[in-house]
Amino acid sequence: MRWIDLRSDTVTVPTDAMREAMYRAEVGDDVYGDDPTVKKLEEYAAELLGKEAAIFVPSGTFGNQLALFTHCKRGDEVILSDDCHIVMHEVGGASVIAGVQLRTLATHKGEMNPEEVASKIRGEDIHYPSTGLICLENAHSNGRVISLDNMKGVWEIAKRHDIPVHLDGARVFNAAVALEVDVKEITKYCDSVMCCLSKGLCAPVGSILAGSKVFIDRARKGRKLMGGGLRQTGFLAAAGLVALRDMIKRLKEDHDNALLLGRELSNIPGIRVNLEDIHINMVFFDMKETGYDSDKLVERFLERGIKINPGEDGMMRFVTNYWVSKEDIYHVVAVMREVLGT
Ligand SMILES: *Cc1c(COP(=O)(O)O)cnc(C)c1O
Repeated sequence: MRWIDLRSDTVTVPTDAMREAMYRAEVGDDVYGDDPTVKKLEEYAAELLGKEAAIFVPSGTFGNQLALFTHCKRGDEVILSDDCHIVMHEVGGASVIAGVQLRTLATHKGEMNPEEVASKIRGEDIHYPSTGLICLENAHSNGRVISLDNMKGVWEIAKRHDIPVHLDGARVFNAAVALEVDVKEITKYCDSVMCCLSKGLCAPVGSILAGSKVFIDRARKGRKLMGGGLRQTGFLAAAGLVALRDMIKRLKEDHDNALLLGRELSNIPGIRVNLEDIHINMVFFDMKETGYDSDKLVERFLERGIKINPGEDGMMRFVTNYWVSKEDIYHVVAVMREVLGT
């Protein structure tokens, strides 16, 4: 049975080109620095992201936590938004691994106010922790892209205080595609960036952390400490190379499909979609007014071959990806109408 899976873009399985590249990958022990395919991926990623160096890590969470661990010392304070992935979805890892304190700020649709960021930077006082890092997220997991102006505002304040900036760029290429800019226009406002190969880009496993050469050298040791020193990783890196070379340029299809899905859903009585918030491949909508239970919707959809997540805080989220076609979108909308009886 062929499923339509809208739960996330993490569900993407590798393409045929990736499977072929994995099969043929030249590999070696990467802890010895012997894996040529990993090296190729790290060099390619660094150049693409406009940084001196890059390192392959097992997951996005790993990359973010490694960034915190490498930038900060224990007890440092990290300024970031209260709705970001590091705060919401990384199991409190920042306090366990880097041993840092998180100073969270409320956001306007994912954007922190630079003035407010500035007001939270610690001065010198015997009672205070040091501000060790500021984190940004783009694209934001709320489906929106943070403006370059906003990033620049935070970046300039950080640099004035000599504080590094880490970008959680799990979907930074989606952000670049949505903004119609080279990704370097985004990453120039950060010292380090993490991006996922295994979401919309379809690689089976892995993320990249990029930054200065000194930073990545230190991160390499931190990665070993965290148990992320992998051996014949070239098999994964081979798929990662296909992801970066071939899959970025087609992300717009996912964005177009998300907008189509959002528009079609918004025509169904009782479904509310904020169309202005669809910047990338995610459609958030509220269906409380239909009176239909979201857990029941999950079941009805599953019976019809469509996988979705139940609502979170009253919001449903459908995510488009490489394996979801425009025809699938029309089918999903038809199923929604059928289930709701409209
Ligand atoms: C998915 C995601 C991550 C973590 O990636 P995993 O590979 O799932 O650990 C980090 N940040 C954001 C914004 C994400 O969407």
